Amino acid sequence: MTKGHSVFVAQHATATCCRGCIRKWHKMQPGRELSRVQQDYLVDVIMTWIQMEIDRYNQKLNEEY
Ligand SMILES: [Zn+2]
Repeated sequence: MTKGHSVFVAQHATATCCRGCIRKWHKMQPGRELSRVQQDYLVDVIMTWIQMEIDRYNQKLNEEY
């Protein structure tokens, strides 16, 4: 994968980098443990974003050749 293309980047892009962003963008209250469902949801958001990036990357490769 390209440089700087990490889960960390994905977390910022999907606003799952910290509890502040999670609260603001995903409407999950801080101060208590995330439930299993909420954790699954956040992982899903990140994975979907990563897949989109991969698709975009592949598309760009196809255009170049
Ligand atoms: Zn944040």
